[in-house]
Amino acid sequence: MNMPIYMDNHSTTKVDPGVIEEMLPYFTVHYGNAASRNHTFGWDADKAVEAARERVTKIIGADSREIIFTSGATESNNLALKGVVEMYVEKGNHIITQVTEHRSVLDTAKRLEKSGINVTFLPVDSNGLVDPDDVRKAITDRTVLISIMLVNNEIGVIQPIEEIGKIAKERGILFHCDATQGIGKVPVDVQTMGIDLLSYTAHKLYGPKGIGALYVRRKNPRVRLSPIIDGGGHERGMRSGTLNVPGIVGFGKACEIAMKVMKEESARLLSLRERLRKGITDSLEEVYLNGHPARRMPGNLNLSFAYVEGESLLMGLKEIALSSGSACTSATLEPSYVLQALGVSPELAHSSVRFGLGRFNTEEEVDYVINRVTETVNRLREMSPLYEMAKAGVDLKQVRWRK
Ligand SMILES: *Cc1c(COP(=O)(O)O)cnc(C)c1O
Repeated sequence: MNMPIYMDNHSTTKVDPGVIEEMLPYFTVHYGNAASRNHTFGWDADKAVEAARERVTKIIGADSREIIFTSGATESNNLALKGVVEMYVEKGNHIITQVTEHRSVLDTAKRLEKSGINVTFLPVDSNGLVDPDDVRKAITDRTVLISIMLVNNEIGVIQPIEEIGKIAKERGILFHCDATQGIGKVPVDVQTMGIDLLSYTAHKLYGPKGIGALYVRRKNPRVRLSPIIDGGGHERGMRSGTLNVPGIVGFGKACEIAMKVMKEESARLLSLRERLRKGITDSLEEVYLNGHPARRMPGNLNLSFAYVEGESLLMGLKEIALSSGSACTSATLEPSYVLQALGVSPELAHSSVRFGLGRFNTEEEVDYVINRVTETVNRLREMSPLYEMAKAGVDLKQVRWRK
């Protein structure tokens, strides 16, 4: 077994060797600018970009003319929200999203709010799911955009995108989906899901960092966007800037591989995930699953270990790369806003750990992680006065702490 073990595949993924192999010549031989029209270097680069564009669109069931390459999903989300709001300002000034979106959607929506746009942040239920009926009820005559993610990056739950897409269509409102965590993991089809704009990024599916895309529907309806980056008019004027040719080639290859292996890989990851979940919950008490137990992407497991700080647990597991549900800001340790939106207590949110299984994880690694997590949680609980009190039958909620 190779140490350290990487089990943080929702943060980013290792680049697949097949992807690297395909990218390399675009650094060393075909290093032209895809916008150079007068020589073979430019033509070769352009040809590679267009071939990759086909692959990147195929995985979502779109047409290659409907893709804008960006620097990643953060930029795609910014472009979708800001671009639509600016373009459709005459139609309305209201957008709908929900509370567990990625920061790049939430913070963009909050910035738009400051400039006078009305934003509805829909709640989620205790499983982390949005109710399509809430979406329907939130729509007004002034609504121009609905933005709901496909798969949540912390708890892996899959939102009812098809139902929401249907509602958006009925009401003639544009529907944007941040599908970053879902692409290559769960089937995505912009037609059946009724999606008009879709964000994704290569580095979450075994491609390189710094390259992403925004799908923009061309017909039924034709979506128009205001660009947020002006310049040489690349990507049909929607996103200026010299194309990242090796990145785009790698993104294309990553999509091609994902389409080929998705079905088998999902089944394998689901079985690894269940092995991990069962292994941990069989050997430890008071471990709670966060997010819907079934409606979640195969590689995601998010658990709270009562009486244990997630950060301390990770500190004790230095040879394993995982994420905790606390965001370290400069002064405080903020519990995850996603878990809080589910109604998880701050204590249990602080106790949470996200296991992100991916293509390169093995059963051997899973078994190692089960043992090390069990051992470390037991050790930390033995040192915890709260755990001792709870074991002795004290109801901690009734305890009045001296200030
Ligand atoms: C990672 C992620 C993003 C941001 O993608 P970048 O390419 O790193 O900017 C956006 N949304 C979700 C759901 C993500 O998981």
